[in-house]
Amino acid sequence: MKEYTVIIAGGGPAGLSAALTLGAAEQKQEPVRGKTFHVVDTGNSDLLKAELNYVPGIPAGTPGPKALADLRNQALAFPSVSFREDKIVEITGGLGNFIILLESGEKLSAHIVILATGFHGFEIDGTNVHVAENAKAPRPGKIAIQTDTEGRIREGLYAAGLLSAGVSSMYASAAGSGVQIACNILEAWSGKPTVVHDVMK
Ligand SMILES: Cc1cc2nc3c(=O)[nH]c(=O)nc-3n(C[C@H](O)[C@H](O)[C@H](O)COP(=O)(O)OP(=O)(O)OC[C@H]3O[C@@H](n4cnc5c(N)ncnc54)[C@H](O)[C@@H]3O)c2cc1C
Repeated sequence: MKEYTVIIAGGGPAGLSAALTLGAAEQKQEPVRGKTFHVVDTGNSDLLKAELNYVPGIPAGTPGPKALADLRNQALAFPSVSFREDKIVEITGGLGNFIILLESGEKLSAHIVILATGFHGFEIDGTNVHVAENAKAPRPGKIAIQTDTEGRIREGLYAAGLLSAGVSSMYASAAGSGVQIACNILEAWSGKPTVVHDVMK
């Protein structure tokens, strides 16, 4: 069974932004060295339907599929980040020993899991999470999961992006939520507030 430090369910803006931040930290921060980050995605991100005209830092008129491909390539530039197309169907266990069952039949293990599967529904068995109406969604019938202030559903299990209660359906909000969860995990590893910055040379 392949083992990763963090498995991220969902490769939309939230999941990929979490992976990007963790991958960058792996190269720069001692407590993160050697850790691995794996994104599992079914390929249905809402971003694939969007044209982006008002996203901070992204040129107006950028097609959503291009923005998503650029973000994925940016995350995958870090050797600690990997990606596969598959569906997570079950998650069991807890902090330090999560077992992730894929639709393909393969099992993976992880110390930490980030759920970033969007707000259309939640079909992963075994997690025992409470799914509620998403109060920030522009249309009814969308779902969300409540977290604590660190983005945790419980020890080792986090929610990011539109799946996380309180995040609006905007690219920057979803991506920012993924970055915040990554920083919260980095902080847990380092024992102090942690960001991933570079200073201009
Ligand atoms: C038509 C449309 C237009 C939009 N226009 C804009 C815009 O102009 N500006 C803007 O800022 N935002 C826009 N948005 C919103 C933006 O696309 C979303 O806010 C953003 O994509 C949410 O990111 P996310 O990562 O939380 O979820 P998603 O992008 O939905 O990603 C979730 C991912 O999880 C995957 N997944 C689900 N279940 C599983 C599973 N069991 N195992 C593995 N993977 C799974 C899905 O396939 C998907 O890839 C638009 C959205 C739509 C639909």
